[in-house]
Amino acid sequence: MKANNERIQKSVEELSEFTKTPGNGVTRLSYSKEDLKARKYIKEKMKEYGLAVKEDGLGNMFGKLEGKMKDAPSVIVGSHFDSVPNGGAYDGAAGVIAGLEVAALFQQNKLTPNYPLEVIAMIEEEGSRFRGLMGSSGITGSIKESDFKDVRDFDGVSATEAMSNAGLDKSLPTYRDPQTIKAFLEMHIEQGPILEENDIPIGVVQSIVGLTQLNVTITGRAGHAGTTPMDKRSDAVMAATNIISKLPQLAINEGNNTVLTVGRLQVSPNAANVIPDDVNFTIDIRSGKEEHILNVLKNVREIIRSYNSSGIKTSVEQRLYIKPKALSEDIHSILSGACANLNISHCTMNSGAGHDAMVFSDVTDVGLIFVPSKNGLSHCPEEFTHEDDLARGANVLYETAKKLTEG
Ligand SMILES: [Zn+2]
Repeated sequence: MKANNERIQKSVEELSEFTKTPGNGVTRLSYSKEDLKARKYIKEKMKEYGLAVKEDGLGNMFGKLEGKMKDAPSVIVGSHFDSVPNGGAYDGAAGVIAGLEVAALFQQNKLTPNYPLEVIAMIEEEGSRFRGLMGSSGITGSIKESDFKDVRDFDGVSATEAMSNAGLDKSLPTYRDPQTIKAFLEMHIEQGPILEENDIPIGVVQSIVGLTQLNVTITGRAGHAGTTPMDKRSDAVMAATNIISKLPQLAINEGNNTVLTVGRLQVSPNAANVIPDDVNFTIDIRSGKEEHILNVLKNVREIIRSYNSSGIKTSVEQRLYIKPKALSEDIHSILSGACANLNISHCTMNSGAGHDAMVFSDVTDVGLIFVPSKNGLSHCPEEFTHEDDLARGANVLYETAKKLTEG
């Protein structure tokens, strides 16, 4: 038996009703009323599909199907169930529902695996209330308990208080020994246009892009916009735009899906009649391979350093550097093989965004697939993935989970 499109679609619709903003997208922040309703719904589904339900000290949910081997590590399938404010019904939720569908198929096909299968639904991936990737980081131990329990939301409520208010048991353990995990599988919506534009239903992710962010400051000299002749100016905006205009080509020349963004620009004094003396802007560079990030970074620095104009000073500060993360090659080939067996066309791609899968890749073998996002839209009410695409993804996960839980 294969994934049931109607069952999947029904779950998408039912889960999307647990929102603080009905009619205006899904708003489901961690430990909120909507979280509690969604939590109840997901636990009921887990039980319905024959899983034993547990929560941890952060409120992550696990539904376990025991395997034939005692104390063997689990193959975990799932994603997060929180959302951004006024987000869509698919980011995270689609992956949780796919995990539930995998469990439903194990039950329907009467499979008892050798290794246990666990469906996971994680809190606070988006960081809309406390901190991004908090659920998975707590499980893998990549952040300390004190770091996430003391973190406060915009109203000054700590995660610990919020959990207590929601009636969740914060005394349970959160960190999980990696020895208890055999692999982690996640289906996520692409949140970009590539799969839809190429009419490919599944993207098998090879690596999660690394990124670096720079803060660039251009300092010139302020002056009167009417009385300072053009050849006597040290105009910080003119210098900045001259530099910025050369940057996109660096990423294009590098190729291999390398991307560069100047996303923030601050001008001082930012007045219509004053020559600007100070411009501050960010440069964000991402790629699936470290060498591409480093090449573009070197060329960016070179362009800024070599900018030569009287009275203009430049400085570059590197604020962030995260290496790309390669996912498991073995699982990549099992996922690709599953697509081939199911006659589903697929491609290999990189993930431009961080996901729970990225956090798990520090401690276990990880597989991540993408399904198409209509018009590439995400984090908005218009976010949409067709149920047939969700079902294809669930089938690929099911085949892969079957294989990984065998041996
Ligand atoms: Zn997500």
